[in-house]
Amino acid sequence: MSIPPATLSGIGVSPGVAVGPIRKVINVVSTDAVPASPRQIFEALILVGEDLERAAANVELDVAKEVLSAQSMIAQDPALVEAIGARLDQDIIYPDTRADIVAAFGGFKEALLAIGGYFAERAADLDEICNRLLAKLSGTESEGLVLTSPTIVVAEDLTPADTAALNLKFALALVVEKGGPTSHTAIVARGLGIPAIVGCSGIMQLEDGTNVMADGRAGEVVTSPSEASIHERQIREDALRARAASVTGPGRLADGTPVKLLANCGDGDGSVAAVSAGAEGIGLFRTELLFLDSVTEPSVEEQIQMYRTVFTPMVGKRVVVRTLDAGSDKPVPYINAIHEENPALGVRGWRLTRTSDGVLTRQLDAIAEAAKGIEIDLWVMAPMINTPAEAADFAQRARSFGIKHVGVMVETPAAAIHADRVLAEVDFGSFGTNDLTQYVMASDRLDSRLSDMTTSWHPAVLRTIHIAAQAAGQLIKPIGVCGEAAANPHLAAVLLGLGVNSLSMAPSAISEVRGFLSTVDLATCQAAAQRAIGAVSAQEAEALAKEILGGI
Ligand code: PEP
Ligand code: MG
Repeated sequence: MSIPPATLSGIGVSPGVAVGPIRKVINVVSTDAVPASPRQIFEALILVGEDLERAAANVELDVAKEVLSAQSMIAQDPALVEAIGARLDQDIIYPDTRADIVAAFGGFKEALLAIGGYFAERAADLDEICNRLLAKLSGTESEGLVLTSPTIVVAEDLTPADTAALNLKFALALVVEKGGPTSHTAIVARGLGIPAIVGCSGIMQLEDGTNVMADGRAGEVVTSPSEASIHERQIREDALRARAASVTGPGRLADGTPVKLLANCGDGDGSVAAVSAGAEGIGLFRTELLFLDSVTEPSVEEQIQMYRTVFTPMVGKRVVVRTLDAGSDKPVPYINAIHEENPALGVRGWRLTRTSDGVLTRQLDAIAEAAKGIEIDLWVMAPMINTPAEAADFAQRARSFGIKHVGVMVETPAAAIHADRVLAEVDFGSFGTNDLTQYVMASDRLDSRLSDMTTSWHPAVLRTIHIAAQAAGQLIKPIGVCGEAAANPHLAAVLLGLGVNSLSMAPSAISEVRGFLSTVDLATCQAAAQRAIGAVSAQEAEALAKEILGGI
């Protein structure tokens, strides 16, 4: 077993700091043969449905109850029986039906994955039912793990049935290797009000019983933490909670300067989460996230329905929709079929008009249609715009669909350095600091070996942002930030000091950023920004800015 690093990183999905021994939930799916006839499978499915119904009745947590009830209904859905029955002859007892059962469930799973977002994460429900069915038919059902003392629960992924089987009143935190912000683990942890981290790779390599500190805000797990580090994080967490709770309403600096605090989202669920987090709107709707599993282009009508799930919760608010940023780290099967040697620098984002022009035109049509009849302030922007000509092309096309506010992401060095001409073609700009940092620093944003380079604190990145923000100011055009940098309270203040006027981030980051910004005025942000761009390294920029900005 390799020795994992002392700090493991994932995505913090429920804030809080917990310290304790880990207990691994290992879902061993038996590979035993599953002898059965279609009738036996049918009867076993009914029993699985009943088990899930019982678990729903016994579990205390409302969200787990809802999911378990929904699963029990899925298990008893005649369509499942039909799909399995279609693969087998009635009345024959087969020596092993495992592959047929898995394939039948697979068909339904694919359909959910193709819709993407919330539905894709619900595909785990089908896995859960399938595994229970196989276990029942092969006689390998287990009771699951029983928690009897305070424990940090660690798993590859947790299903609601796992959480029902676990006595979660002993769970101090949940940490899973897989899953996203809307996975069951995240939902259950937020419901329980305990810290949770998803996508934490390496966590299953730790030995059972290892003492760790899980920080659900930072998305970090520290093994064998020192007393001092625990104390430091807990004090910080308490202070952050107190400050975040004490500041509500629209974002503003200490001197009253308004700063719109918007949320990033990828689907209807994210839009609802943005409202609960107090976002003043959506600053980045990553439309491509809806289509990552789509092998064919969704029709305009299908797209309209999906976009409406994001627009509807946002009545009365701004929604900035980004056209498909397909390619590179987010390939969409129906549009990025060609192998590229260097996809981050290849045909991605708006450049796809070179190869799949119609896809982007149809998307603009769907976005404009979807917003009709819903009272939102619709802004639409294109990703990876590099030149004034591309900006003009996008603006002309978007306006031809009646879209009033058209803008561009500023996420390439060319667009930033040439922003006076690029932004002249559109109504607004939005810094994509994730890509802008990767391109300015010539360092792959996905390569953890280069993480010291891919920080937006680097003065070279901050100077590039400064050039474009100044150009936007001179053109009197709004410019925001929608990359990860906006979620870091001190960096957010520096960005405002550089001339940015709105910030968009994960909903979970909003209250903390709002709280911090209420403690600093614009002049202080500007002074911190000046110091930061004069630094020689990212570390120095951060340290100098923090010295001026103060706070935690
Ligand atoms: C960015 O590049 O900063 C951005 C917001 O877009 P994405 O992360 O989706 O590429
Ligand atoms: Mg980007």
